[in-house]
Amino acid sequence: MYRLVCVHCGAEYPPDAIVYNCEKCGHLLAVKYDLDKITITRKELNQRPISVWRYKEFLPVRIEPVTLQEGGTPLYHLKKIGEELGLPNLYAKHEGMNPSGSFKDRGMTLGVSMAKQLGKNIVACASTGNTSASMAVYAAKAGMPSVVLLPAGHVALGKVAQALMHGAKVISIRGNFDRALEMVHELCVSHGIYLLNSINPYRLEGQKTIGFEAVDQLGCVPDRIVLPVGNAGNISAVYKGLCEWRDVGFIDTLPMMTAIQAEGAMPVVNAIKGNLPEVVVEQNPETVASAIRIGAPVNAEKALRAIHETKGTAESVTDAEILAMQRDLARYEGIGVEPASAASVAGIRKLAEQGMLDPREKIVCVVTGHLLKDPETVIKQCAPPIEIDPTIEALLSVL
Ligand SMILES: *Cc1c(COP(=O)(O)O)cnc(C)c1O
Ligand SMILES: [Zn+2]
Repeated sequence: MYRLVCVHCGAEYPPDAIVYNCEKCGHLLAVKYDLDKITITRKELNQRPISVWRYKEFLPVRIEPVTLQEGGTPLYHLKKIGEELGLPNLYAKHEGMNPSGSFKDRGMTLGVSMAKQLGKNIVACASTGNTSASMAVYAAKAGMPSVVLLPAGHVALGKVAQALMHGAKVISIRGNFDRALEMVHELCVSHGIYLLNSINPYRLEGQKTIGFEAVDQLGCVPDRIVLPVGNAGNISAVYKGLCEWRDVGFIDTLPMMTAIQAEGAMPVVNAIKGNLPEVVVEQNPETVASAIRIGAPVNAEKALRAIHETKGTAESVTDAEILAMQRDLARYEGIGVEPASAASVAGIRKLAEQGMLDPREKIVCVVTGHLLKDPETVIKQCAPPIEIDPTIEALLSVL
């Protein structure tokens, strides 16, 4: 069994309540389990296929879930980049290998399943792209209409293509993501539509399984988990899950939670470096990494706690550093990711170069979305294909 608990004041709500913000203080809610009632062992869990649903005892869904076999993504050893950085134990968890090409699927299998469990029949979200792509996919699977609000002109092509093809009602707002989120929130509260942004506590429950899988695949708790941070839901989710595993005795240490943001959208980094009690909202976030182009991260309170309590850190990277790492991952490791995803490894490169890392650390970088999500940014960085006459001489002359 579980309850919904305010992350700020501790007020409690029953599991079937449809509330996104605490009615007493306005802060977000989190799912809290009676952990002493979870009797499954890690050995039993490990006999199941690796996926989000391997961990169902740590999830709130009690019906047949809406699933497309999300999770179970590969954990790759970054041999060449690790060698360059003097980090022999550097890994990337490739979340681009999920059904819609990003980690958002872990949250959406939960979110759409919970919509069904709670008797809701329309879902909506604001999105920098991947949330909408994923929601459209899972709403299609569930046979539910879905509504998507996007910041006009700032969403990568592949993501819009997915939302449209999977049948969402797609609306472009002449404003940024933060404004789109305010609007969809108001729409959902006033019209009984189910909101699937990361203020939805159930979505984060799915996303926490990234941490479970990383521990299972590595065979131990990594010393550090590194995530690109936008709304800060994912980093909060991974931390929450691993705290639950510590509390049931599955693990006895926690990784240093490490947040990487783009220089043009770095409120969490500023709060950590300035030792501020909360983030200062940025009005005009700007970065090539559109998935983390967010100035008002709604989960910042939880993310700051995750970083402080694990003695983690936060660092920013420039767009040039992000794009350089996107290329290096593609060319040296065979790992194709979108720009936001490369930010986690670019952040590790920067921290390593500053001498901030112990070379023995086992580091898992979460790379969050697939290369094909944002083909335009890729094409701009690469020389175009060479066009030739259809003769062998012409072919040999260019090789
Ligand atoms: C959503 C997203 C992020 C940011 O995750 P948050 O939970 O908002 O911090 C990073 N990368 C990609 C590819 C995403 O889709
Ligand atoms: Zn509260």
